[in-house]
Amino acid sequence: MVHPNPVFRAQVLGAGPTGALAALALARAGWQVRICDPLPASALLERNRAYAFSHSSQRLLSQMGLWSSLEQVMVPFRRLELVDLAVERQVGFTPADLGPGPANAPPSATLSSTAVGWIAQHQQLLPPLLAALAADPAVVLELGSPPAQSSLPPPDLVVAADGPHSPSRAALGIGALHWAYSQNCLTCLVQLRGSANDQAWELLRPEGPFAVLPLGDGIFQLVWSAPARRCRQLESLGDGAFLDALAGALPDGLQPDALLDAPRAYPAGLLLAHSLHRGRTVLVGESGHRCHPVGGQGLNLCWRDVAQLQRLAGQVVAGRLAVERLPAAYGRRRWPDLLLTLLATDLLVRLFSNRSPLLLPIRHLALVLLARLPPLRQLALAAMTHGPCQLLRQ
Ligand SMILES: Cc1cc2nc3c(=O)[nH]c(=O)nc-3n(C[C@H](O)[C@H](O)[C@H](O)COP(=O)(O)OP(=O)(O)OC[C@H]3O[C@@H](n4cnc5c(N)ncnc54)[C@H](O)[C@@H]3O)c2cc1C
Repeated sequence: MVHPNPVFRAQVLGAGPTGALAALALARAGWQVRICDPLPASALLERNRAYAFSHSSQRLLSQMGLWSSLEQVMVPFRRLELVDLAVERQVGFTPADLGPGPANAPPSATLSSTAVGWIAQHQQLLPPLLAALAADPAVVLELGSPPAQSSLPPPDLVVAADGPHSPSRAALGIGALHWAYSQNCLTCLVQLRGSANDQAWELLRPEGPFAVLPLGDGIFQLVWSAPARRCRQLESLGDGAFLDALAGALPDGLQPDALLDAPRAYPAGLLLAHSLHRGRTVLVGESGHRCHPVGGQGLNLCWRDVAQLQRLAGQVVAGRLAVERLPAAYGRRRWPDLLLTLLATDLLVRLFSNRSPLLLPIRHLALVLLARLPPLRQLALAAMTHGPCQLLRQ
C-alpha cells in the first residue's frame, strides 16, 4: 500500500564513508534517520587511507548539496597514466576523454569535468560528513555505542552499512560469495619526484596493479598490490630499503624521495552477498560487496548504492513506491552495476598480473588501440567513472 504523507524512519548501522553518506541521503530525501556506530568519532577518523573518487561520486555529492564543502578536501587529477610495464606501453587519459557523461547528469556535473577524478584522505573526508550529520535536524547520530534501545516502533528501513564483516548480514543469515586474492594491498604516503601534482598513475605490473594517487605538494598515496608474502616483506623493511624497493617498482622517471608513514598491507578480496536485502534491511556499501582496489572502484561503487537508495527513498516520500517494496527494488536495481564492476576489476587483475606469453600480444594491442582511438578511451573512461552500466546505455 502506498502511504500519502507519513514520516518515514530509517536506522543506519555503521558511520563509515558509506553509512554516513547514506544517512545524509535519506535525510535529504525527507526521512527521519538514526545512525549509529560502535566506534567513537576519534576511532572513525583514525584510518590512514586515501580514496579515489570518480564522476559518479562527484555527481551524487553535487545533487546532495555536499560538493561545495567536500571539494575543499578533494585533490583533482587531470591526467591518468595507464602503464602496462610488462609490454612497456602507456596511455594517458585526460578530461577530453570524459565524453558528454550520462544523459541524466545535472548541469553542475559539467563544471567539474576539468578533472578525470579526485583523491581524498579519509581523515579529511569523514569530518565534513560527520559535521553535516550532526547539523541535520532529521538525523540522530550515536557514536561510540551499540544501537540504543528505542521506545519508538521499529524503523521502516534498516540500512546495514557495517562493512565487509557485516554483523547484520550474518544475523540475517545472508550468505556471500568470497574470493581472497593471493595479492595483498600495501598502502603508504610518499614524497615523489617526476610526476605532476595533478597526475595519477595506474601501473599494471606482473605482481599486481599499483596506483600512485596525487595528494598535492609532491605527496602521493600508493596502493601497491603484490603477493601477500612480498607485501609482508615490504612492510618489514626500514625506510631506506623500502624506498629502494619502491624505486625498483616504479617506471623510469618516477623517483621516491621520502616515506611519510608506515606502509601497511591489507588483504584484497572479492565479496558479493547472495542477496542485498531481507525483510526491512538493505545491505549498502561493503556489507554487500567488495572488489579489488584496481581502478579505484571500491568506494564509488558503495556510493552508487547510496545514490540508488536515495532515489528510491524519494519515491517512497512522493508516494510512488510502497515503503515495504523499497528493499527488493533496491536489490534488483543494484545487481547489474555490482556484477559488472566486480567482473571488470577481477578480469583486469587476472589479465594483467602476469607475464603470460599468450596474453602479452593481446595486452599490447589493447594499449595501442586505446592510445590511438579516442572513442575507445572514452568508453573505457566512461565505464570507470560513471560505472560499467553506462556503456550499456550508450
Ligand atoms: C586496512 C584497509 C586499508 C584500505 N585502504 C584503502 C585505500 O587506500 N583506498 C581505498 O579506496 N580503499 C581502501 N580500503 C577500502 C575502504 O576502506 C572501503 O572501501 C571503505 O571503507 C568502505 O566503506 P564502508 O562504509 O562501506 O565500510 P567501512 O568503512 O568498513 O565502515 C563500516 C562501519 O560499520 C561499523 N560497524 C561494524 N559493526 C557495526 C554494528 N553492529 N552496528 C553499527 N555499526 C557497525 C564499523 O565500526 C565501521 O565504522 C581499505 C580497507 C582496509 C581494510
